[in-house]
Amino acid sequence: MIIKIDSVTKTYTSPNSQSEIDALENINLELFSGEFVAIVGKSGSGKSTLMNLIGGLDSPTLGSVEVDGINLSSLKEDELAKYRNEQVGFVFQSFHLEPAFSVIKNVALPLIIRGVKKDSREKMAKEVLNQLGLGDKIDKRINELSGGEMQRVAIARALVTNPHIILADEPTGNLDSENGKIVMEMLKDSMNKDRIVVLVTHHEDDTKYADRVIRLKDGHVVEDKYNEI
Ligand code: ADP
Ligand code: MG
Repeated sequence: MIIKIDSVTKTYTSPNSQSEIDALENINLELFSGEFVAIVGKSGSGKSTLMNLIGGLDSPTLGSVEVDGINLSSLKEDELAKYRNEQVGFVFQSFHLEPAFSVIKNVALPLIIRGVKKDSREKMAKEVLNQLGLGDKIDKRINELSGGEMQRVAIARALVTNPHIILADEPTGNLDSENGKIVMEMLKDSMNKDRIVVLVTHHEDDTKYADRVIRLKDGHVVEDKYNEI
């Protein structure tokens, strides 16, 4: 799998005034299977905007985002929803879990959209939860968990569909350093040769888990380099 970001500019126009801001300006990047990529930059540098474009949650003002040669902007809304469900696992800073549902139900949610039957869904969810060391939390409600546990459940939910792309937007942002480390190890362990993991962070420490570090400043790529092994 290759993600190709070709001459991408994303311009936001504020609703009240006429002012415009280029959250990203003429970005060119290629991300390859087997890469764990960290995107680093200060708040407002365009990190989340870039993630949202890769995840098909938003579209560029200029240029294109191609995944395996398919321009995401050419997809119809239902095709884009299919892309997100089948190819992408999302992990957010604020978890985005259903607080009143059980752990297993949350993890199984992306499989409902895929039409997987209940028995199989729960079996698959259980398997991922066991793999991630969350086997004893299966029947707990989300609102009974700690923040660190919630983020681990969110990672299980992202992995349950075995996606080619994992997009994690500041997943350690609401965690203490110990839980942050666990989450980073989990993301690192989720790597395989067919997968691209994209991590957005402003914790410099997190970049050491990545194969490649891309730095953004004011909507521009200012550095793109591979970590030494
Ligand atoms: P980061 O994730 O690095 O903090 P963002 O991608 O969220 O940065 O934002 C980049 C720039 O785009 C910021 O100046 C931000 O204010 C602006 N921006 C982001 N989303 C919107 C939006 N929906 N409407 C208007 N401006 C936005
Ligand atoms: Mg952000």
